[in-house]
Amino acid sequence: MPTKTVATINSTGRQAASFIRAASAVGWHVKAQIRSNEGLVAEELADLPNVEFIEGDLTGPDKKRLLTELFTNVKIAFINTTHWGDEVAIGKACADAAKKAGVTHFIYSSMPDHSTFGRGWRALPMWSAKFAIENYVRQLGIPATFVYTGIYNNNFSSLPYPLFQLQLQDDGGFVWQAPFHPDDPLPWLDAEHDVGPALLQIFKMGPNHWKGQRVTLAFEKLTPVQCCARFARGVGRPVNYVHGPIKIQVPIPSGYQEQLDILAETLGDRRAPYFPGLEYPREGRSIWEGYRGIEEYAREVFPIEEAANGLRWMDEPGASTPSEVADDTNGSRPMTPSGIPTPVRFSGAYTPRSHPEGLDRDFFVGST
Ligand code: NAD
Repeated sequence: MPTKTVATINSTGRQAASFIRAASAVGWHVKAQIRSNEGLVAEELADLPNVEFIEGDLTGPDKKRLLTELFTNVKIAFINTTHWGDEVAIGKACADAAKKAGVTHFIYSSMPDHSTFGRGWRALPMWSAKFAIENYVRQLGIPATFVYTGIYNNNFSSLPYPLFQLQLQDDGGFVWQAPFHPDDPLPWLDAEHDVGPALLQIFKMGPNHWKGQRVTLAFEKLTPVQCCARFARGVGRPVNYVHGPIKIQVPIPSGYQEQLDILAETLGDRRAPYFPGLEYPREGRSIWEGYRGIEEYAREVFPIEEAANGLRWMDEPGASTPSEVADDTNGSRPMTPSGIPTPVRFSGAYTPRSHPEGLDRDFFVGST
């Protein structure tokens, strides 16, 4: 008999799916809202024990009915809204439904609104929507915790997506070009690996411990240069950082263009901290110490995800690993012991693409 029942939305997304895997593994019952039960992640989740799908689209007229069904007999919830549809309206509707159901611990995946800091920074629109939802949840008075999720390791791709493209070079190495100052620290998170266990722990400690708190889910604090050094060691090829404008090489919707423009201004030109006033990575690591760092991600996951996306650079000899990369000892995770990376041969094994639905579309939305 499951001991707890927890509700999630956008359940095929990287954050919710990570949590569902962890919750199912410890025997919790998960009521998981899902738009469609088709796709690799949906199929994987359907096979997990104690996962019940509530199928339907929160962006459509069914929202209220879906949320009533989702929150029936539920006392805890992890809610991660996305930019699809009216994000603020969906977030508020989730909070209303949770309040009505008497939810005793509501974890919401929030983001900062830089315009609230009195420094003349502009709000990143895709983040400030989440902050507006956070404020609404606080006003409703549901016992709630707000997690701030760092930059996903698997935003990196050699495909020409804006902001986190690792552009393959003729010598087999990679270049990452972005507007972040090379020396400004950034929060890093392996969403698929670490969101689930960290949330599980927050739920287990409960609202008495975490009510009203903001918790940064970022397990490494690395500047772009440090991040590239780690990535290079992991992937076994040079990875160099170029401080420069965001390259737009695929069609993107105007809302995402605005997000990127303001990101470049606020975090790049104005050098605002990514998460102003929030501590990381100490608190996150104190909650969950088994995190996957960027170096391990680059060694063990990146080549497989790239191969699953049809890329073949891992089958070609790369430039040799940089022998001297700047060591960035700020107390983060030691290397896993494998040393020299094993070349990945594409053998039919397939890691579910993290944006399964992205592949169906002629544009890419969003890595932040
Ligand atoms: P994801 O990007 O892994 O997956 C996309 C989600 O959007 C899935 O749940 C999918 O079902 C849903 N979706 C796709 N097409 C849709 C459509 N047409 N209508 C409605 N829903 C649709 O999801 P995730 O990473 O768990 O969550 C995304 C949110 O996380 C975004 O709001 C993003 O801003 C935020 N975020 C991302 C990062 C990052 O580094 N990538 C960091 C912090 C926060």
